[in-house]
This record gives sequence, C-alpha cells and structure tokens, in this order.
Amino acid sequence: MQITKTDYLEYTFCKKNLWLKKHKPALFDDAKLSDFEKKIIEEGNLADEEARHLFKGGTLVDSQGDEAVLDTKKYISCKTPVIFQATFLQNNFFIRADILVYDNTRNGFELYEVKASNEIKRIAPHNYINDLAFQKSVIELSGLNIIKTGVIHLNKDYKKRGKLEYDKLFVIADISDEVELAQNEVKRQMEDMKKYLTDEEEGGCECLYRGRNNHCTTFSYSNPEVPDYSVHDINRIGASKKLFYDWIDKRIFKIEDIPNPEKLKGIKKLQYDSVISGKPIIDKAAIKEELDSLKFPLQFFDYEGFTGAIPMFDGFGAYEQVPFQYSLHIMQEDGSLEHREFLITEPKTDLTKPLIERMKKDINPKGTVIAWYVTYESQRNKKLAELHPNDADFLKQINDNMFDLMTIFSNGYYMDPAFKGSSSIKKILPVLVPELTYKNLNISKGDQASERWQKMIYSETSDEEKEAIKRDLLQYCKLDTLAMVKIYQFLKNML
Ligand code: SF4
Repeated sequence: MQITKTDYLEYTFCKKNLWLKKHKPALFDDAKLSDFEKKIIEEGNLADEEARHLFKGGTLVDSQGDEAVLDTKKYISCKTPVIFQATFLQNNFFIRADILVYDNTRNGFELYEVKASNEIKRIAPHNYINDLAFQKSVIELSGLNIIKTGVIHLNKDYKKRGKLEYDKLFVIADISDEVELAQNEVKRQMEDMKKYLTDEEEGGCECLYRGRNNHCTTFSYSNPEVPDYSVHDINRIGASKKLFYDWIDKRIFKIEDIPNPEKLKGIKKLQYDSVISGKPIIDKAAIKEELDSLKFPLQFFDYEGFTGAIPMFDGFGAYEQVPFQYSLHIMQEDGSLEHREFLITEPKTDLTKPLIERMKKDINPKGTVIAWYVTYESQRNKKLAELHPNDADFLKQINDNMFDLMTIFSNGYYMDPAFKGSSSIKKILPVLVPELTYKNLNISKGDQASERWQKMIYSETSDEEKEAIKRDLLQYCKLDTLAMVKIYQFLKNML
C-alpha cells in the first residue's frame, strides 16, 4: 500500500479516519468535495504554479506515478538546478516536492513547500513543519542530502497594484531548524502509520469526547448509538468539558437523558429546556426591546464576496474578501417593501467604485441596516472605506447603525428545539418560514456564489452562461435579504 503525504497529514489528524479511507473507501462515496473544497485545492495548485516565478528556468516533472519517479532520477543525475514536482517513492512512502533546488557548492538540495496560506501553520493536520519533515525523510531515504527546508507562503501585507510582483506576493521562510527537531518524531509516526494501516481493526473513535463541529463524516458509522441530535450539539459544549466527559463516560448521549440539567447555565439550559418541552422558548420582552430600537427605514442588507489566494484585483491582498454584489430590501414604517440590488458584472480597474456609488443612492445611513452576522458586512464596509476614503463617513455611518438579526437567536431570545442549537439562517428559516426555501435555486450557499461569480467574469465564459449565472446570483442574494425580512415579520407578528 502506497502512503502519500496527504495520508500522513490525515494520520496526524485522525489515524482511524485514514484507516477507514484505505480499508472501507465506500464509506466516503457520499462525501464528495464541495465547490468550496475544490476551490481550496485549486488555490493551492495556483499558488504552487505562481511561486515557480521565483525560480527562473526550473524543470517541471509533468509525468505521473512511477514515470515521474524515473524522470526525477534522471533530472537529479544530470544535476538539474531547479526541479518542480520532484517525485519520490521510498519504502511505500510517496511524495511530490513542490520545489527542489540543487546547491552545487554544498552538494545538497534545498527543499521548498508552497502553501496558499498567509502564515506558517503548526497545528495538525496543517502542520507545515511535520509536512516538510515527512518529505525530507522520504527524500533522504533515496540517498539525497537535504541542506535546507523552507515554506513559501503568501505575504499577508501585500496588496496588488497593477502586475503581480512575485517577490512581494510570497515570503520564503527558512524552517530548517524546526524541521530538524521534528524529524525523529515524524519518522516514528511514519513507522507507526505503516504498521497501523495493516491492522485488521481500526480501533476506537476519539471524537465521542468532542463537540459536533470536530467530527468527521464517519462519526455516525463509528458511533451508531449516538443520535443525530445529541449532547454533542449543545451550544459550546467544549467549554464545559467536565460535565460533557462525565455524560459520555456514562454513555449518556440523548439530551433528554441528561441527569443533572441544573448544572447547565444560560443558553445551554435554554437549549435543554426547549428539547424537554418540545416547544420554542421565547423571551418576548427581550425581542421587543431589540426590535423597538431599530430606526426606519429598515434596510435588510447582504453582501456576497469573492476570495482567492492570488489577488486578482487592485487594492486587495491574498484571501481578502472582495464584495461583488449586494441585495437590499427596504421596509418603511407602514410596512411597504422595495428591493434594490447590485452586481459587478464587468470588473474594471477600480472594481468596487460602481458598487459604492450605487450604495450611496440605495442606502439611507440614518435608518438601521440589518444583516445576519454583521461582522461580515461591517468588515467589508471598512475595507471599502480604506479603498474609497471620500466615502468613509458614509460607510462608517452604516456600520454605526447596523443591527445583527442573528443575535435574537444566538442570545437565546428565541430557542426552538428544531434549530438544533444553531443560529445559522439556513437552520432558522425552514423552521420559522418553511414556505421560503433555497432548495429550488441553482446557487444555495455563499461559497458557491463566489465560485460562480468568478466563472461569470471569466472572459472565456459564453454570454449565455454569463447571463444564466447573473440570474442565479441575483436570485440567491435576493433570497438572503428576503429571508431576513420574513424572519423579522414573523418575530413582529408574534409580539
Ligand atoms: S469521528 Fe473523529 S475520531 Fe472518529 S474517525 Fe472521525 S475524526 Fe477520527
């Protein structure tokens, strides 16, 4: 069985999950990569390709598998100065090194890993030190001398202005000492992994003692006795470890079976009470106070944003969110409603100028701007203010008058057992306003919208497809703000 670097990193995160992937791959058939996950992989490949500009005249190993191993040997034997994707297979361990640089004077190689990230990560499964220690160990098994190891990552302070400047876009960090220190432990893990993967049984699942967000897709396979909605779903249960571990030790998984509910406090207790009663628990006074504080016109507002590892637009850096669209529902005091929207369809040099110009026409900054998780919208406004200082006062006024509709739910003023402990609009909407649904839309998630927008502005996309994407994007964003309107109306009608 071949063990790749991805396998090794998976092992450092959860060896049981790696065992299941190797021995029971059918379990992962349904776990198709989301558009977002595919984009992360594409971003990684793109950063890798762009970083090659830093090493002029390198030779790419563009073959695959055993052929790539043979090609690499050939390039090394003729002392090729720089090799991209050098490939090694030793003792069943298989790696492709992003950049391998031959140092003639020291008769050794510098090994570089390119990461589409703004920093050096040191936590599994994204521990870059272990990643390089694994690669170095495999290359050394083939008899080569590695004299330096480094990570090439994105520079978080770089902003694009005109053509990309590769020496500013990337940072080359020498991590040789850390890799050296980590190598003995990594070699031990490599042997343990090899042995473990030949075991007949995969061993226990440790996530029984972790909150739902930490579980992988095979949790229910490994823990069939745990219901879909369990003590693992209690709001921030990880912060009450003693209580949580005690239930798990006693095999208490259902929220209804918790023997000591009096120990639960605040929102956790509300969540428990709503499950026991089977009904929503509503603090009408608190909701009324919040909603009464809003100033008309109420402006239900939502941005869609695009992000990427390699900055595409002037003024933006790696992974900075680029607002490309908004939807706005405006409600007057008499309840009348109108809709406005804007979508950047043809990016110009000053990408966000037309967007801000329309916002100034559409938004009355004296009224309350309502969003769901306002942090996202207010951060985009701050970025727009940085790019357009003349409009900074207008954007600041919007931010000063923002209200987060999500807080009604995240503060526990309205707690319905059907929310299953979540305050995401995608969980709240089907419970409170079941007739409004994202199900029939071609775009139903923010990351999908981002990926579609990129496709829409791509010059080679046909006009027909561009039009279809434009329609889908407008529909999706409109539903986001209409959903807030409907939830607001639901709450008002209930008071
Ligand atoms: S649920 Fe957790 S411990 Fe179990 S296999 Fe998945 S990641 Fe590993």
